[in-house]
Order: sequence, then structure tokens, then C-alpha cells
Amino acid sequence: MAKIYCKYHPKDPARKYCPHCNSNLCSKCIKPETAGSNRYLCPVCKNEVNDLGMENVITPFWERIPQFFKYPFNFDSMVYVIGLSLISFLTYLPIVGFAVYIAIVFAMYRYGFALLQFTARGYVTPEETAGGARLNTSSNMHIIFFGITLLFGLLVGVVPAWLQSPSLAMLSIIAIVIFVLLIPAIIMTIGVTESFSQSINPLAWFVIVKSIGIHYLTLLFFLMILNGGSSAAIFLISPFINPMVILPLFVLFNTYFLMVMFLMMGYVIYQYHERLGVTVDKDADEDSFSQPQTAENITDSILHEVSILIQEGMFDDAKAKLKQALIRHSMELKLHDQYHKLLVKTNDKAELVAHAKGYIPALIANNQFNQLIESAEQALQKDKNFRPEKSIHAITIAEHAFTSGKHKFALQILDKFDQFYPMDANIPKAGLLMCKALCDGLGEDAKAKKILQAMLGKYPDGEVADQMREYMKFIDSLLETVPE
Ligand SMILES: [Zn+2]
Ligand SMILES: [Zn+2]
Repeated sequence: MAKIYCKYHPKDPARKYCPHCNSNLCSKCIKPETAGSNRYLCPVCKNEVNDLGMENVITPFWERIPQFFKYPFNFDSMVYVIGLSLISFLTYLPIVGFAVYIAIVFAMYRYGFALLQFTARGYVTPEETAGGARLNTSSNMHIIFFGITLLFGLLVGVVPAWLQSPSLAMLSIIAIVIFVLLIPAIIMTIGVTESFSQSINPLAWFVIVKSIGIHYLTLLFFLMILNGGSSAAIFLISPFINPMVILPLFVLFNTYFLMVMFLMMGYVIYQYHERLGVTVDKDADEDSFSQPQTAENITDSILHEVSILIQEGMFDDAKAKLKQALIRHSMELKLHDQYHKLLVKTNDKAELVAHAKGYIPALIANNQFNQLIESAEQALQKDKNFRPEKSIHAITIAEHAFTSGKHKFALQILDKFDQFYPMDANIPKAGLLMCKALCDGLGEDAKAKKILQAMLGKYPDGEVADQMREYMKFIDSLLETVPE
């Protein structure tokens, strides 16, 4: 079965299909119509998308064969495998020997069913299952299984003999073959229902077979090989070992192979759980639809949707989407950055200037000063009357422009400060900064001195006034050393 992948994420399996766009989409690409809704919409055309089913997401069991074999090599399972094998030495004891043997078989199957159930719910690694499987001792699934097998045995073995009917005996043989082929379905029915009355219903077995379809045969194939595996292993090594060890070894191999088989059957339930109507605990899809709504998730999902729109060349939609998002998430730098890039790319001058007002506070809050200067410069280039919303932000921009040697730009952003920010408390600070840019950067000492004098006349008090006087002294010393 070839998997279908997302149009926008070629590495991710698709979960949905948009018939309108003819595109397959992964769960990152689609969003519910409203929070919690079961209707999912295409990110491009906004039509409802169709389900591709979990089977497209879950790795099929025939691609996980090595994992089933590796699985029992975890501590808990090994304790079981080796423990049962050691206990089987007790079967050589008189009287209790047979009872011990029965107990071992029961223990093997009980553990197998517990593994099957955990795997069926989506816990597919030893870390997720082993401890739990070992603890799940209250289950009677193995008893149900032996009960059904015993009943069937009586039906096909005893009834024809009792009635002494050769034609019934023939039918019995056919029935046995069918029963053997259905054993995996019976085991899975028991694992799903945990009920004797439901598990004894042949209709339920056929429902399992029908739901899995042709791959029920694939499963049978693997199980038959596995079933033969332990016997073959014993057969091959038996000439070389002490006969006393044969049974413990047989138990060892059998427990191991039984685990592999039950893991496989459990996984088949998980793989087909949608068709079987089984609820699982774990969504196989890492990017499940029901992610917790953290701020980061929301931002990522918006950016994600925008990236699809950009890939589709729908720049206006991408811009509208971001602009809308920025109203609610005004300090999300990632959203601002993407919007800014998009505006530059589409050369949207008017919006670039408008956006800079919101972009600047986010850049300052995140200490992104290089981008801050770049963005402010761009805005000022497009509109010489551009100024940040807050006076302190204009000061911050000017300070960073000054330290990075952009003195002219610092002067531009501070130009007419008292007109853009009338009666503002930062006016003296802006004045002092302008003087520094003029004097330090451009060598216009006389012009700087004039401004300082005017400023000191208007604002003679406060901390900045003291700094101005200090700076005045400095300018004076400079002016004195300049030869007339
Ligand atoms: Zn995708
Ligand atoms: Zn669509």
C-alpha cells in the first residue's frame, strides 16, 4: 500500500483530501472550522476536506516486523520469558507437574492478551506497555479463549463420534480448518470485547476478517511462520542438548514467539481501529488535531497556513491572514517578521510604513535592534513623516542608529521631535541625542551648540539638563581647540 503524502509537506503522511483543489493535506495543514468542530477546512479554498483515514498515517504492520521481534527484549518481558522457562522444570515433578504445565500455558496467554490490548490502544513500544501489561492480571481474556477453543473441540470432536456419522466427521475436518484460520480473528475479538458472549459469535470473527480485508491473509502468513518458529527452533537444537532442558527451552521459545504474535495482532487492531470502530488512547499522528492551544502553537499554525498561501501564490490572502492575526497577537515577532518579509517581497509601500508602527514595539521588546533600524529606515525612506507611535521608541531607534554609526538616520528620526510628540517628556533627551549625532558623527559642533543652548533655555532642570551642561563643556573644549 503506497502511502499518500501531504502536498505541502512531502515527508508527512496526508490525513485529508481536498476534492476542490485535488490536494492531499497533513494534519498541520488543516484546521477545524471552529474550535472543536469535526469539519475540517482546506487552507487554500476553505472547502470541507474528506478524511483519508488513519491507515494512511499508521505504519502498516508488515513494515514493523523487526519491531515485533525486538519488543520482548525488554526487562519486564524477559522476566516473564525466562521466569516461565525456569518454572517449567517443575513440570517434571510427579502429581503437580501437569498442573504446573497448564498454569504456564495460562500465564503465557494472559501476558499475550495483555500485550495485545495495550498495543491495540496504540502503546507500541516496550516503555509504554511492558510494565502495564505485567500488572494487568485481572483480565480473563485467556480463559475466554480457552473456553471457546474447548467448546469448539467438543463440538467437532465429540458430536460426530457420538452420532457415529461419517459425513459429519468430514464436515468437522472442514470446520477445524476454518476455525484454525479464524483463530487470529477470535483472539482479536476477545481483545476488543473482553466478553465471552460477544467473542463466541462467529459473526464477530467475520467482521474482523472483513474489516482487515486482504491483509488478514498477510497476518495469517506471518503468524503461521511464527507459530512454526519455536517448534522449528527446538527441532533443530534438540539433538545437541540434554533432554531435561528441552521443555524449558520449548517454553522459552514459545513464550517469546507468542508475545511476538500477540503484539502483531494487537497492532493490527490499532492499524485498523477506525474500520473496527475501536477507540485508541494514542493518536498515531504526532501532529494531532487536538494540540493544546499554546501561544507558540497558535503562531506556528498561522505561519503554517500563511506558508501554504504563499506557496500557492495567494499573497493577498497571506497578507490578510497575517494582518488579521496581528490584531490579536500584536507582540508576536514571528508573525511580524513574516508579514514584513511579505510586504517587502510584494513591494507594498503603503502597508510597509503602516506596519512599521506595530513592528517596532515588537522588535524592541525582543531586542532585535538590527532589524529595528532596518525597518525604521525603510519606513522613513518611503515616508519622511514616519515616526514610531511612542516617543521612547524613536529615542531607542536613534540611540541604536547612533551607536551603529548611522548618525544621519538618527537625526532624521529625531527631526521635529517636539512636533511629532508635543509636550513630551522625552524632548530634552531627544535634543541631547541630536547634539551628539551632530557633533560626534557629523562634526557640526557649532550647530550642536546652538541646539543645546536653546534646549537648556527651555528645559533648565532635571537630569538631562545636567548632562546637557556637561556636553556643552565638551563642545566648548572642542571649539576652543579648532584654529580660527
Ligand atoms: Zn501539510
Ligand atoms: Zn481546497
